[in-house]
Amino acid sequence: MLTLRGGAPRRGDSLSKLGVLADGAVLVRDGRIAAVGPRAQIEAHKEARQAEKLDVGGRAVLPGFVDSHTHLVHAANRAEEYELKIQGASYEEIARKGGGILNSVKKLRAATAEALKARARVALEEFASHGTTTVEAKSGYGLDVASELKILRLHQDLQREQPLEIVSTFLGAHVVPAEFRGKLDGAERYIALLLEQMLPEIVNEGLAEFCDVFCDRGAFTRAQAQRILSEAQEHGLAPRLHAEQLSRTGATQLGVALGAASCDHLEQVNAADIRALAKSKTVATLLPGCDFYLGWQDYAPARKLIEAGAVVALATDYNPGTSPTVSMPMILSLACSELRMTPAEAIVAATINAAYALKREKHLGSLEPGKQADLAVFEVEDYREIPYYFGMQRCWMTMKKGEIIYVRD
Ligand SMILES: [Zn+2]
Repeated sequence: MLTLRGGAPRRGDSLSKLGVLADGAVLVRDGRIAAVGPRAQIEAHKEARQAEKLDVGGRAVLPGFVDSHTHLVHAANRAEEYELKIQGASYEEIARKGGGILNSVKKLRAATAEALKARARVALEEFASHGTTTVEAKSGYGLDVASELKILRLHQDLQREQPLEIVSTFLGAHVVPAEFRGKLDGAERYIALLLEQMLPEIVNEGLAEFCDVFCDRGAFTRAQAQRILSEAQEHGLAPRLHAEQLSRTGATQLGVALGAASCDHLEQVNAADIRALAKSKTVATLLPGCDFYLGWQDYAPARKLIEAGAVVALATDYNPGTSPTVSMPMILSLACSELRMTPAEAIVAATINAAYALKREKHLGSLEPGKQADLAVFEVEDYREIPYYFGMQRCWMTMKKGEIIYVRD
């Protein structure tokens, strides 16, 4: 049993501390952890006598994964672009041909809320089957008032209707939508729409907790990101950023200056960005699924970030264009093989540090009394086997708030 006890955020050496119990047990009451410790001690607990006992047969138990960066709600896959990319078309060429994010926007606007919800629910069941119990979800494939609200309201419906916890993020600043492109002041006019019409409605309905901006070449500039996030912050939405993925824009240092919850991607960070992150509470969220899937061999400098003292987290970036996976175990394999993180560091990055990136470290991310009973059970004898196997389904059971939400037959 990996308890991950010991607080958050984790930096440097504390990123390797899993709090391992060789023969552990957890006592659950009303969806929360009442006690955790060596099995003999928990079995002797007075409440344990009336408790229902669940024996996981010596398998490895850890906190459910917290996936702190996903684009959950979208209308369709983009398998046709996958083939084009393999044949050599660049990300930006595909975008110029009306593919990429704008292709997803066109399909999402045309889709009914019911169809979008059905697709997201299937994905959420798949997240659960890979050991994930909490998922951050971004809007950003709507990019008009009605469609962005449609996505964010779906986050709220999904939160009510299925067991995984959904943390909602407004990403109206994903890209400038087609109808504003190539027009005088198009980006500025879209930002005005975002700030004057989308944001007040979202705040009014309480539809998002965070605001994100894709600050990069082909998306939004650092100055635009600053305006959007500052205004969102005034409305009570905490900032986070897509930073330094395709090019270095200075988004990371902007994120640190704004006290952003996280800066995500970070493939192009420089030494000053790494130092700024290391001195801050802003989480460096790495998304190696994108670099793997796009075949870029251009991974974020995880070792430098860890050695400098940054708070590192891992996420899937589940989305139809650049990272179509819900599998946190696969992300752990990539983190180990490509980012050179150890299995222990990768697990901490996908649980307690990811919970910290979503401001939920008091409730999620470790097995400690008072926290939610969110567990992932893996069909392995040693936790190192979780990243060791790749592209294989080794998750045996998933529990959310004390309820079994997935079990392998
Ligand atoms: Zn993303």
